[in-house]
Amino acid sequence: MARFTRVFGMRELPVRFVRGLRVRLMLSYVFFFVPLLIGIGVFYRQILQTQLEGREQAALEEQWDAAKEYFTIENARPVWSPEPEDADVVAQLKNVYLIADANGNYLDYNADTYAAVSFSAEEIRQIVTQSKQDFSKRWSKVGEPFLIEAGTVFDDPKPPRKKRRYFLAIGRSLAGTQADVSKVTKRYFFLLPVTILLSILLGWVVAGGAIRPVNSVAQAAQNITGSNLSLQIPLRGAGDELDHLIESFNLMTARLNQSFEQIRRFSTDVSHELRTPLTAIRGQLEVALFTADTPEQYREAMVNALEDVERLSSIVRALLLLSQAESGQLALQKSTLDLGEVALEVVDQFQIPAQEKKITLKAQIAPGAWIHADRTQIERLLANLLSNAMKYTPGGGAVEVRVGPSESPAFVSLEVEDTGVGIPSDNLPHIFDRFYRVRSAMTNQISGLGLGLSFVSWIVQAHDGRIEVASTVGEGTRFRILLPRETDAAHHTGTTGMGSAVASVTLETSS
Ligand code: ADP
Repeated sequence: MARFTRVFGMRELPVRFVRGLRVRLMLSYVFFFVPLLIGIGVFYRQILQTQLEGREQAALEEQWDAAKEYFTIENARPVWSPEPEDADVVAQLKNVYLIADANGNYLDYNADTYAAVSFSAEEIRQIVTQSKQDFSKRWSKVGEPFLIEAGTVFDDPKPPRKKRRYFLAIGRSLAGTQADVSKVTKRYFFLLPVTILLSILLGWVVAGGAIRPVNSVAQAAQNITGSNLSLQIPLRGAGDELDHLIESFNLMTARLNQSFEQIRRFSTDVSHELRTPLTAIRGQLEVALFTADTPEQYREAMVNALEDVERLSSIVRALLLLSQAESGQLALQKSTLDLGEVALEVVDQFQIPAQEKKITLKAQIAPGAWIHADRTQIERLLANLLSNAMKYTPGGGAVEVRVGPSESPAFVSLEVEDTGVGIPSDNLPHIFDRFYRVRSAMTNQISGLGLGLSFVSWIVQAHDGRIEVASTVGEGTRFRILLPRETDAAHHTGTTGMGSAVASVTLETSS
């Protein structure tokens, strides 16, 4: 057993761990945050680069405007003539520059950065004829990036000669900008694994926090066994979905507990019910075996034993019937009946027990209470109600059976009313439950299995009827059953014989 548990644990754990809610929550956290962090990094790198290059472009434009002032073109050669204080500016300008004529012939340039400012003759002609200002990003031979501005300038001819167009391109190195951007990017992406690790850790902790109550609920649920079903998982007071789950779970265990309790009580009751006649039978047989001498004594012992055997088999029969009824195996044999006639017959059977118990048993039957029903089951229903009324009514009390029309023309009414012990209102909702018995000093003296009313309720349901109970403790109980009226009864009056002969009858048996 121990080995099995270990093997089971070893094989199950990793799978459960990988598929565990905590891991999945953490992974979804990571899958959400990692792309988000990378996206944010890429986005801000782009923004930073655009901003820094924008600043370079503004500076380049200023340089361009100034550059035009520092040189003139004479005999196809640029002549630089800056003021002495501008010498530095011009020196910087001449780091990256190209001057060409309108046909694309180069007039002057810096050999070091030539690659960055090399424009084809075609490009130059296009820029000059269209007089457009062109910004582009180009690279020197050593791979240094430059922002280049290219456009048209005029020479400074002495009148009356015409002004001539020339091509000028100047540039600013983007190496510093690029270095700044890559420094920031590197730092960000260097920190990214740390951030991802932190997000994994955070995800793990957050998911753990979310899962912990689920685990504790699972733990509490595991502690619940058949013998401590009354255990309830404490609510967390958060009023969230988990609390709702706990509530539902607690309700479920409470219901299970109730069923377990009923079954436990039922086993006790059944064994008690079976033991009493069994002990009696044993006693009768012992008498017959050891003390009886005459045939009459033998006979008496046998008759008594037989009565108890009959009682035993009726208990077993009741159990069997109920389980058949509830599992749908009991088929109803319906025919058209006069409920009043059936009631009279059953009441008749109870006359002798009523007399013995000194109970007044009355029947008030109105004619024409036709129903389409299974006669045996209706008799059983009446017998159960009447035997309860007799059981729970002390001597000197009264029981009355009434059959007649109800307020609704679609139903006929059957009432069984007694002046017995009554049923406390707390117990009323449960009396039709299987094996349910009212526990009180009074009712504990009375034997029963708590099956009679379950059967009554099943019969009423099987006939599409309704059942109502009104009871006052110490005063009595009234069961009222409504069964659908058989409207097509006229055809059947002949077949049911004496039913049609029942006029308003009052039957009374009193001690
Ligand atoms: P039981 O075999 O215990 O009579 P039932 O299912 O017939 O089982 O009835 C269930 C319980 O309802 C009884 O135990 C009893 O406490 C209560 N009860 C039923 N009928 C009456 C009644 N006429 N008066 C008082 N209590 C009743």
